[in-house]
Amino acid sequence: MNQQKNEGIIEMNQGSDRNVQDAQREIMKLFQGLSREIPVVLFTQPGVNEMFNDYAKQAIRFFRQTTDKIVLREYRLDHEKAAEYRVTHSPTILFDPDNCHVRWLGAPIGEEARIFLELMLLLGSRDSGLTDDTRKILNRMDSKRHVKVFISGSCPYCPQQAMNALRAAIEKPGLISVELVDTQANPDLAEKYSAQSVPQTYADEILIAKGAQPEELFALSLEKMEQQTIFIPESDAKEVETDLLVVGGGPAGLTAGIYAARSGLNTVVVERGLLGGQVATTPVVENYPGLKQVGGKTLVDIMVTHAMEYVQIFPGEEVLEIETGEPLIVRTNRRKFITRSLLLATGAVHRKLGIRGEERLAGHGVSYCSTCDGPLFKGKKVILVGGGNSAVTEALHLKNIGVEVTLVHRRDEFRAQSVLINRLAEYGIPVLLNTEVKDITGDHKVESVVLYNNKTNETSSVPAEGVFIAIGYDPEVRLANIAGLELTSDGFIRHENYRTNVPGIYVAGDVVGGFKQIVTAAGQGAGAAMVVFEDLMNPFWKHHQK
Ligand code: NAP
Repeated sequence: MNQQKNEGIIEMNQGSDRNVQDAQREIMKLFQGLSREIPVVLFTQPGVNEMFNDYAKQAIRFFRQTTDKIVLREYRLDHEKAAEYRVTHSPTILFDPDNCHVRWLGAPIGEEARIFLELMLLLGSRDSGLTDDTRKILNRMDSKRHVKVFISGSCPYCPQQAMNALRAAIEKPGLISVELVDTQANPDLAEKYSAQSVPQTYADEILIAKGAQPEELFALSLEKMEQQTIFIPESDAKEVETDLLVVGGGPAGLTAGIYAARSGLNTVVVERGLLGGQVATTPVVENYPGLKQVGGKTLVDIMVTHAMEYVQIFPGEEVLEIETGEPLIVRTNRRKFITRSLLLATGAVHRKLGIRGEERLAGHGVSYCSTCDGPLFKGKKVILVGGGNSAVTEALHLKNIGVEVTLVHRRDEFRAQSVLINRLAEYGIPVLLNTEVKDITGDHKVESVVLYNNKTNETSSVPAEGVFIAIGYDPEVRLANIAGLELTSDGFIRHENYRTNVPGIYVAGDVVGGFKQIVTAAGQGAGAAMVVFEDLMNPFWKHHQK
């Protein structure tokens, strides 16, 4: 690595004079646009990290030869200024420290020289250059964030992530401070943060991104304090007219969106919660054709990205009212949709055990999402309740990430597919059959569960720090009830070839029951979209009325 650093600096300083002069001339042209001076403060300590101290000095000297706008001050680490600015590492560079909070631990050489150049241009113009969408996200933030981006001079992806952070710091100087940490100049910090790949971004000591992100995703990760993988721009429209409004952004809804839009229907998708629905929290999917093994969230990201090529998605938006008629009027918490047709792909919601302690200790050891909460129980004893594909998949996932999981099922055999059941033994997961959970106990968090063996009638209290519940889903029929749709005796939405009893309203996916697989939900979404297309061309209900 140091070899690469050496090569970088040699290129800059000892390469052919003509190359250096050409580069300087180009940079000089760029820097002509600088309208103000940029104070740069360099801290070095003789005898500490000498090689990087030299690189930092040489790089800054190189840039200063191209403009008189860089005003350099230099101090040693034992100077009082170092204490004033809380500088502890050599070399450290501060940029315009009276106006923004940006520091660099290391030397801007190799790929990092690009960062230095762009940073000078931004500071010179005092314009972050962020997109309106990114600014909107940053404007929502109301608390300070200290961002650390681990970078390296040999990493071509690092400048992008470093610039995301630097732009944010320039846009919100009172809110966002940024530290770029060169991992080669600061192996102690790289070790402390386990930054074994770059770029890696922390906010307030929490890892929020691995790799380089588009700037909107960086801002979103910073806002949410965890890595975000999809950014969907917000819409300000108060009224939206569509041919088809799809409610639900799971596999059924997204596929319907793709098919309807490709048929020429103006289509939008509204999703109140998690795009992808249940799939987004499924640890691993192994039966989606074409993808031998894929993380549920990854599959969702692929589907959402694909759907966004065709339809506008309105995330975080909840449908509140549906007025039937021609057109249908659908009101959400944000706007009104006037639509020729409506597809409910609202999926299903987690089933609850309905036992004592379940609601009180939800979020304190009781969980319905092993992908989300599993890592918190590493090395701890938990029970997982259920006997279907979800329960077995999630038990395998928990075991895989180091959780001591015991699977508890109320019958003497599982409902899950045999390929999954066989893995339970392979993974050494203890299984309690004919066992029901009767009570979850603990003052502030789960401490134990009361188990009842329905064959022997024995009851026992077993210590556990977590209870994961994966006992299936109930169809989400709230909107069906609002719209006056008929349900089946099992509580699913009644339909005939995706058409409900209300003209213009269609259904697809888990809300209609059936096999409840990702691929069948997607298939139903495609089928429903094609039926909608046929009906809008040639409305079936008008024929019935004749
Ligand atoms: P599921 O197939 O409906 O299974 C629910 C399980 O929970 C059953 O074993 C059921 O027991 C048990 N259960 C229900 N209510 C209970 C209660 N009150 N107390 C204790 N146990 C209770 O649900 P799922 O596993 O969530 O799967 C939902 C759908 O998604 C299914 O169609 C499934 O095939 C599909 N899925 C597929 C995959 C895959 O293909 N890899 C992965 C996940 C999910 P009984 O058996 O006694 O009824």
